Amino acid sequence: MSPSNLIPDGGSQLLIGGKLLAGGNGVFTTSDPATGEAIGYAANADGGDMDAAITAARTAFDSTDWAQTPGFRAACLRQLKDALQNHIEELREITIAEVGAPRMFTSGPQLEGPVADLAYFADLAENYSWETDLGIAQPMGIKSSRRVRREPIGVVGAITPWNFPHQINFAKLGPALAAGTTIVLKPAPDTPWCAAAVGRIIAEETDIPAGVVNIVTSDDHALGAQLVTDPRVDMISFTGSTQTGRAVMASAAASLKKVFLELGGKSAFIVLDDADLAAAVSYAAFGVCVHAGQGCAISTRLLVPRERYDEAVQAAARTLANIKPGNPNKPGTVCGPLISERQRARVERYLELARNEGGTIVTGGNRPDSPGWFLEPTLIAGVSNSSTVAQEEIFGPVLVVIPHDGDDDAIRLANDSPYGLSGSIWGTDPDRIRRVAEGVRTGTLSVNGGIWYSADAPFGGYKQSGIGREMGVAGFEEYTETKLIATGC
Ligand code: NAD
Repeated sequence: MSPSNLIPDGGSQLLIGGKLLAGGNGVFTTSDPATGEAIGYAANADGGDMDAAITAARTAFDSTDWAQTPGFRAACLRQLKDALQNHIEELREITIAEVGAPRMFTSGPQLEGPVADLAYFADLAENYSWETDLGIAQPMGIKSSRRVRREPIGVVGAITPWNFPHQINFAKLGPALAAGTTIVLKPAPDTPWCAAAVGRIIAEETDIPAGVVNIVTSDDHALGAQLVTDPRVDMISFTGSTQTGRAVMASAAASLKKVFLELGGKSAFIVLDDADLAAAVSYAAFGVCVHAGQGCAISTRLLVPRERYDEAVQAAARTLANIKPGNPNKPGTVCGPLISERQRARVERYLELARNEGGTIVTGGNRPDSPGWFLEPTLIAGVSNSSTVAQEEIFGPVLVVIPHDGDDDAIRLANDSPYGLSGSIWGTDPDRIRRVAEGVRTGTLSVNGGIWYSADAPFGGYKQSGIGREMGVAGFEEYTETKLIATGC
């Protein structure tokens, strides 16, 4: 990829205290997963850089009026959105090159959607009811008028993964800035440019005050851990794997800060016996190919009526075999590469496990004969819901088909998972659909192809898929504290 103005000379910088800086640990390479080749480098922060970023965020929160000026924050968010949109083509090329994101999804959730969503958070900063009058009461015989205020929580440490970097970075930056917090963002080592490009735009093209947003790229996960343990950080907003989420929660305990977690998933796609089986199954199969299955909310367990199991397996296999992994730059590509060689090897280990547990790879499972970290869309049949591949998140283009024995059994199987992030139901009878939807313990559900994703829609997980909600008013309020003021009268 040719260097963009956002990444001058093929290298990105940190944003700390309003300044674009080199990293204390030099640089690390960022690669194109579609070729496996390095495309440039990113500033590699050290512990001192992270310390400086936290100091800058703390100072901006404690010593400026950022937290008290929602109108100014709304203006800054709109300015940021406009500036990002002015650079959208450069950002698109960076995203395709660094994330391996298929071009077609950059006009939606991979880039343009989340940029546009910043307007929602700007509106929220202006229109949110920061105060609620609780009226007068006489607790303990003392007449008091009470009001409840929402206030920004303070300094936020935002830690993000690589699969939808813009969506996740903006789902944190948008509400956190609207709420009046200051932020240190630590993106994933695999996708530093997506965040660093935004840092350059913030520094050079917006009025967001110095220190309000700090962006610290590094190839060392320890910098994320440093952010979690620092007592000057009031809240951690984390998106990533359940395993890392557990570590984050444990180490945040020492300084007892708020932890907001968006974690992994193993969502169920339930096909009821009155559904159009062929349509439902091919929709599910298409879903696991999107961005090579690297989406936390993709439904990866397909639950079909037992009496039509073989038919469902054949239909899913046909769809998967027809979707060839390919160059994410091409307009029609749905299934791009896995993010890294390590991630592809991890997915392949799961396919081996499926075979060892008596399963069959009905289609796919092979590496296409091309450079880059591609893997053919894969269907696993013949395993039970208790198998490892049905219980653990694979994070690749892999669908597992499992039979169910009716609505109650489908609910039971869907819930027989440590996760509860998302899911799908296909059927005809609205009463049955409603019953199943109410029985599945999960944060979001799509019925007959309905789309739950939007700026105003809360997203998040039950069980080990997370704590809290991102997006919507609920997502905004995660970044606030509640204060009650009682005045004797
Ligand atoms: P990961 O957990 O390996 O890393 C996520 C981030 O945490 C990275 O920035 C990493 O550097 C940092 N990190 C690693 N160890 C840390 C530690 N001990 N303390 C603090 N920070 C640490 O996840 P990943 O591989 O980058 O992303 C894939 C995972 O993210 C999948 O499990 C996926 O389901 C999940 N995810 C969840 C959502 C959601 O909204 N629920 C969205 C996207 C991805």
